[in-house]
Parts: sequence; structure tokens; C-alpha cells
Amino acid sequence: MTVQSEILAEIKTYDRIIIHRHQRPDPDALGSQVGLAEILRATFPQKEIYQVGETVEGLRFLAEMQIVDDQVYEGALVIVTDTANAPRISDDRFKLGEKLIKIDHHPNDEPYGDLVWVDTKASSCSEMITEFALMFPNELTLNTSAARLLYAGIVGDTGRFLYPATTARTLEIAADLRRYPFDASALNREIEQMPMKVAKLSGYLYQNIQVDENGAGKVILSQELLSQYGIDDSETAAVVSLPGVIDEVLAWGIFVQQPEGYYRVRLRSKGPIINELAKKHHGGGHPLASGASAKDLAEVAEIYDEIKEICHAYQR
Ligand code: AMP
Repeated sequence: MTVQSEILAEIKTYDRIIIHRHQRPDPDALGSQVGLAEILRATFPQKEIYQVGETVEGLRFLAEMQIVDDQVYEGALVIVTDTANAPRISDDRFKLGEKLIKIDHHPNDEPYGDLVWVDTKASSCSEMITEFALMFPNELTLNTSAARLLYAGIVGDTGRFLYPATTARTLEIAADLRRYPFDASALNREIEQMPMKVAKLSGYLYQNIQVDENGAGKVILSQELLSQYGIDDSETAAVVSLPGVIDEVLAWGIFVQQPEGYYRVRLRSKGPIINELAKKHHGGGHPLASGASAKDLAEVAEIYDEIKEICHAYQR
């Protein structure tokens, strides 16, 4: 029995299923979570299916979350999508269910749950959820609203099919999803669009990025700067990928100061592997897209030195 058949068997067994994903969700977190929820609602109208976790204002066009009481978890199946480590799961009541399933495409550093399906070759967790539906065409119903969410997740995590994790299979799956009658260009525009204040912050980023001779990039966004631009942490997502278009940049860190004073570190790379570095600083993630945290500017400098070393070693 494959893990996917085991997951389907569990889904069939439970009358109540609650789906979680990671904190600070991005389009793939929401797309995989609510895409799966919509597939299950369309397939099993008699079951109770819930999607929970904190809401992100800028992603409201994708989906809304549901509020559930603790007792809803009694005897329920909990599925977590797109989340490598249990502490990063949004809404820690995921533990209150009867059974827990992890579905993810990050390195399996923490295989939490009773059943674990991890595919690090998948571009996105939304690609995995689509694959899941396509594996059981007679048993699972993929509808337009699920297709829209899953497509958004794939577009988000592949940087519009740009990043190396985009495979021929990713494109086939995206093509299958595009056949459903949602407005894909309107969706792409919603994902791409940014408020004027974030566009202005992009100008700051390009003006102020520091790049060494090996392509290691660094931008610090202090609390003072963020309040000057009227931007909060979640709105910085739109600028994280921007250094990638600069020729001279090979790998980079965006250091976003949090109201508490520490820095959220967002690491990206065009080649050098950066997730090992992230793990040394309370983080993790994919080889070319990771996150970490730095307690102060000294640790920011330390992380930037490590990015420089990695770029230097990669250039040799
Ligand atoms: P971000 O910069 O937050 O978009 O994160 C990029 C990638 O790194 C995502 O795939 C995250 O799941 C992962 N990531 C970010 N922060 C952490 C963390 N503190 N621990 C583990 N993984 C992380």
C-alpha cells in the first residue's frame, strides 16, 4: 500500500477532518491547505472539513480561515500541509486530533505525525495535493475552486515557474489545473500586485543592497525603516525575491527586524545551498529558499559572513 493510499483510507475513515499549514502562510501554504479542503468537500459532502490558522490580510483573495472550538478536534483527523516542523504549524491545537498526517515538500527534518508523505522533489505542496487528486480520479473530485487554489500555490512557490524546482511534471500538473474555468490571469495579477508602499520599499532595496565580490547580498530592514514606509513584516514577502534579478547577486539575506528587536532572516539563492546555514540559526527550509532568525546585528553580521563564505566556495 502506498502512503497516498493510506492517506486516502484515513480520509475515508474520519467524519471530521481539520487541515492546518504553517505560520505566516504564503500562497503555497494556503493553496495546499484549502485546495485539499475543497477537494474533500467536493468529494465527501457528508463529512465536516475545516481549514484553520491565522489570516494574512494580503492573501484574503485566496481563502478565509474558519474558527473552530477545541472540542471539534475530538476524534478528528488532522492533516498538516507544507510545514516541515511541528513548532511552525499555525494553531498548535493540531495535537488535539485523534490522528495526524503530514504532507510536505520541505526536507523531512522532523517527521511528525502518524503518517508522513514528504516529496522534496515536488515544486510545491500544492503540486503534491494535485498529484494526490490525480492519482485517484475515480475517488477524489478536483473542482474549479480547488484548482484555482492549487494553481496559485504552484505559481507562488515556483516564482511563476522560474525556480529550479519547476519540473516537466510541475508544468503538466499546472496545465491540468488551468483547464478548470477560473480566471488565471486575474489570479496571477493578484499574486503579483503590490501596494504602492511596497513598491517604494523595493526602490529602497535596490538602492541599498550590499553585494560582495562573490555575489553575497544583504539588505537590513529595520523597524524604523519599516514604519517609515508603513510596512509590517508580512508585507515584506513581496520584496524577498527581488535581488534575484540582479546579475551580480548569487545568494542573499533579507534581515527584517521584528517589533521585539530580533531579526527574521529570509535567505534565497541561485545555486549555493543555504538551508544548512539556516539550521545553524534556528531555521531551516529548502536548499535554495530558507528562513532563520538572528537575535541582534552581531548575529546578522555573522550570517552575512557565512553567506559570503558559501558564495566564495561556490564560485571556486
Ligand atoms: P520565508 O523566507 O519565510 O519565505 O521562508 C522560506 C522557506 O524557509 C520556507 O520554505 C519556510 O518553510 C522555510 N523557513 C522559514 N523560516 C523557517 C524557520 N524558522 N524554521 C524552519 N524553516 C523555515
